[in-house]
Amino acid sequence: MNQTASLVNHWMDLKDSFGMERMTTSPTPPDMALPPRPRKGEVKLNSMPWFHGKISRDKAEELLRPREDGLFLVRESTNFPGDYTLCVCWQGRVEHYRVIYKDNQLTIDEEEFFDNLSNLVEHYEKDADGLCTMLSKPLPKAGSQEYCVDVKAFLEAGWAIPPKDVEMLESLGKGEFGEVRLGMLRGEKVAVKVLKEQSKAAQKFLAEASLMTSIKHPNLVQLLGVVIEGKNIYLVTEYMSKGSLLEYLRSRGRLHVTKTDQINFAFDTCAGMVYLERRSIIHRDLAARNVLISEDGVAKVADFGLAWREEATTSESSDRKLPIKWTAPEALRKNKFSNKSDMWSFGILLWEIYSFGRVPYPRIQLNDVLRKVEHGYVMDAPEGCPPQVYELMKRAWNLNQDLRPTFHEVSILLGHLRGGTGGQKKSS
Ligand code: ADP
Ligand code: MG
Repeated sequence: MNQTASLVNHWMDLKDSFGMERMTTSPTPPDMALPPRPRKGEVKLNSMPWFHGKISRDKAEELLRPREDGLFLVRESTNFPGDYTLCVCWQGRVEHYRVIYKDNQLTIDEEEFFDNLSNLVEHYEKDADGLCTMLSKPLPKAGSQEYCVDVKAFLEAGWAIPPKDVEMLESLGKGEFGEVRLGMLRGEKVAVKVLKEQSKAAQKFLAEASLMTSIKHPNLVQLLGVVIEGKNIYLVTEYMSKGSLLEYLRSRGRLHVTKTDQINFAFDTCAGMVYLERRSIIHRDLAARNVLISEDGVAKVADFGLAWREEATTSESSDRKLPIKWTAPEALRKNKFSNKSDMWSFGILLWEIYSFGRVPYPRIQLNDVLRKVEHGYVMDAPEGCPPQVYELMKRAWNLNQDLRPTFHEVSILLGHLRGGTGGQKKSS
């Protein structure tokens, strides 16, 4: 597999199972000022087994066999990019209905409008409502499935924050989806992730948010709520005043970052990862740039943009970019992500902590890294790195993922090391 041809910077285009960017977006709910419920529920993604992505009309007809009345699939329209086509069998033929995307809603007949494809399919599964037949049997797509998220689900689960409650202040940084701004929510500082435009990216953005609704741990950046204002969606999370771990290490360096700080950052990050590991959630982009530091110096794992629940992953793929120097070989080669591939990344993160934010594999060209690593190359210990920590790095970089330690195991070891440096300064 020649994947090294398309390298750009730290990133590489690879195929993956995270195919949500093509999904529809939802409209503004009628009443955004619903008071949040006292207890917030988890927001689940809807799976769409019948969604086959960009396949041609001919391909759809080939797949829809035998021609059982009501057998259906949904594909992306090739003639009208951004629109969809519902293909359904009826009396030995395949009917193709164009689904139009209009004012953030989907419709076939311009009479019934739906927030997303799931709702549309659900409707026509109950009632033909003008179609040749009602939808009775989905043709499941082989391999990876797609998901969609409903904005309303966030409101119903109690995560909505009324727009007037958040005051937007200065920019904190740039993210994949757009800007991250400082905000004030009821007298408290918060971070607000602003989605550039209500578009296909909205689904990925909401997927990140939906994952965050199920997560609560002192070492994972906490979601506080979602603001939906017209076409704009904002993710509100706790504010981490000391910024990213990477910037923290680089700007303060050897002079100001102590051994105690280092072991605490490692331990905190690991504790957050133990929580994810226990719940079979894979982060996929663990790196110092995605760990944030709070006012009191606690490290928390952030950036769940790529995180995904284990059961949703397959080896099937579509376009995505991966941070090569942080990603385990089996994940780069075979798209095999697991808590053990996160452990590989954690080893790199340890190296970043102890080298004060250097770029990993210094002096090795990006397109040589994977090959060298597969031939057994491992980075040297950073200067001044405790030997026990370097041992952990090497164990995390075992080519055989089964021989890498679990986060649980590493947290115990780091806990002992931390005890030894008198590093237990906080209760996280
Ligand atoms: P993305 O996941 O879209 O790439 P990030 O979550 O990495 O975006 O955020 C980009 C930058 O914004 C971070 O590197 C950091 O400097 C800043 N930032 C993000 N979240 C917070 C937060 N909760 N508190 C403070 N700064 C933040
Ligand atoms: Mg990031």
